[in-house]
Amino acid sequence: MKKNNVITFRVCEKTQNMMDEELDWCKREKTPPYAKWQAKDGDTVITLYNSGKVVFQGSDADLASSFWIDTERINSGKVDIKSSESTKKDKLDKSIKVDPKIYNSSSIGSDEVGTGDYFGPIVVTAAYVSKENIPYLEELGVKDSKQMLDDKILEVVPKIIKKIPYESMILTNTEYNNKYSKDLNLNKIKAIMHNNVLYKLRESTQVYDYIIVDEFAKDFIYYNYLRDNPNVVKNITFLTKGETKSLAVAAASLISRYIFIKEFDKLSDKVGINLPKGAGDYVDDIAYSIAKEKGMDYLKDIAKLNFKNTKKVEERLR
Ligand code: MN
Repeated sequence: MKKNNVITFRVCEKTQNMMDEELDWCKREKTPPYAKWQAKDGDTVITLYNSGKVVFQGSDADLASSFWIDTERINSGKVDIKSSESTKKDKLDKSIKVDPKIYNSSSIGSDEVGTGDYFGPIVVTAAYVSKENIPYLEELGVKDSKQMLDDKILEVVPKIIKKIPYESMILTNTEYNNKYSKDLNLNKIKAIMHNNVLYKLRESTQVYDYIIVDEFAKDFIYYNYLRDNPNVVKNITFLTKGETKSLAVAAASLISRYIFIKEFDKLSDKVGINLPKGAGDYVDDIAYSIAKEKGMDYLKDIAKLNFKNTKKVEERLR
């Protein structure tokens, strides 16, 4: 029998509009009461209610919703997810092909965080997970890294890093804004950072089967970004949704998020405001009030100035 997972969360207007467009092709003719629309994508039924609540229902609801959870996190800075507790096993989507050879290998994996957030640094981590440590990470719930909320990350990551070797790199907002230019876009910055941590970690790793990067650019583009670099890590396996296919990538993702949360808190303390995550409208409001009080220059050390948000703030200051 098929499991029926139910995942519910609230989406802001921007996310609603995006869903409205993106899921238009699979909307159903009939709409349930109090709903704007209902759609059926594969096994998943998606209902958007007038209240702004969205419900994903079906055996693959967790994976079908994960993109929109990310989107909502980017658009409004936070997301509160309610999930019917289904059996924790078998969380991996059938449509995402998990290669057991890769999943069960000793691997180095890397992933980054902060690239969708106006405020805060970019953090990239490479982590090494040996075959022997796979059960330990599974026990900690690392498999479901995408669904893990901040509180859980703060609890789990200190346990991960006790056993898992890793290398992290933090790019502060000041550094980012100094570096960013026409010739050095966000993806190139990411490539340089990934290569950097992978190179360091590989130096201290004796035995590994794969080096896996959560794919953000096609491999030839990735290597092209690094063409002037004398120390390029080659033979990388690029995987989309890498954190579901490799625990090394999942661990790297969690460690990156852990560091990001800590850095973000420090930044909030410095500014004296609880800074919002993401890059949505709410972020504009906060950025505007900071710039109004402390001057536009102040944003240089706390935000990524090339984001659209900066323009909006400047327009409002005029
Ligand atoms: Mn990633």
